[in-house]
Amino acid sequence: GTIAIVLGTRPEMIKLAPIAGRLGDRARILHTGQHFDDALSSSILSEVSLTEVAALGMVGGRSRGVQIGAALCALDENFAANRPAMVMVQGDTNAALAGALAANARGIPLVHVEAGLRSNDRAMPEEHNRILIDHISDLLCAPTAGNIANLRAEGIASQRIRLTGNTIVEAVWQHLPSAGRRDEILGAHSVKPDAYVLATLHRPENTDDPAALRTIVTELSDIASNSLPVLLSIHPRTRAALVANGLLESLEPVSQLPPLPYGEFLALARHAAVIVSDSGGVQEEVTVLKRPLVVVRRSTERPESLRHFAALVTPGPALGDAVRRTIASAPDLANARCPYGEHATARIVEAVNELLARTAAA
Ligand code: UDP
Repeated sequence: GTIAIVLGTRPEMIKLAPIAGRLGDRARILHTGQHFDDALSSSILSEVSLTEVAALGMVGGRSRGVQIGAALCALDENFAANRPAMVMVQGDTNAALAGALAANARGIPLVHVEAGLRSNDRAMPEEHNRILIDHISDLLCAPTAGNIANLRAEGIASQRIRLTGNTIVEAVWQHLPSAGRRDEILGAHSVKPDAYVLATLHRPENTDDPAALRTIVTELSDIASNSLPVLLSIHPRTRAALVANGLLESLEPVSQLPPLPYGEFLALARHAAVIVSDSGGVQEEVTVLKRPLVVVRRSTERPESLRHFAALVTPGPALGDAVRRTIASAPDLANARCPYGEHATARIVEAVNELLARTAAA
């Protein structure tokens, strides 16, 4: 039977591509268009080899309710016309919630990849998305034992849960450029290993709060002027907020980059003295790349990363302090353990096949 893989954003493409690759002809990729920007969508799709993708329409940039509702309608029609044996969604986006609801409405078995993450921060729409998806999923692929404990605490039956690890580990190893190519990439950005800061920011708690955005700009510019060069990959949402708040000029000491191809971003992350980010995926990637990270957030659904690799700070002077402290201490993380396993793709596909066999027998 076909497995409909519903996705809409860059991190979903990156983390679902290894699974789609292993499923081969059985996978049907449905793109809701939540990330509509070319640098966040089509270029990443081709980079991670997701080529046969059916686009459901452009719902990016609209209100959360419209994104979920429009994608749900389009998916419902798609599933009615061509019913898949199973639907797979990943993570906590509006696209993932729409996919989960569409599967549920048609009584199609649902798999949630990256199940059981919890920030316990009810102000984040992602927290609501992941809770809703987990509770209606038939198979929950949990990256870590901590994620399983979160699901069990909410009363989700252990028969529905599998410990799989996270496919991000395989994605990093597949896309990290060779050492020689990394030298070229660093050279093109005029930086040297361990002597620059890499930053990415796009969460609404940072971009939509002008005071938060202003202090982040101040702190990053201060580091770039007085400490080490700062390379900032600027997400379209962040760019719009910087422009709207007249902050581009204050950001002048920082190297302002467009969203980078995945391989290029990984190469820069691999050799950064410290990374500054509010991204979910980056919190996982640093545990594979063994680099220190300053997470600019109120809360995180990935406490595993905090253990060795990351520090959580809210936007403010604490940000600059944390970055300078990390640069000064230059932690050696080479032997710190990655909490996300090694064979997530194989484990997930095995669990999917089991569920398909059980559904067919029933
Ligand atoms: N990323 C990228 N290019 C960039 C910045 C990030 O390819 O310029 C990758 C990053 O390595 C990670 C993913 O995009 O795998 C994270 O996406 P994003 O921060 O948009 O979403 P989140 O992970 O926070 O859901």
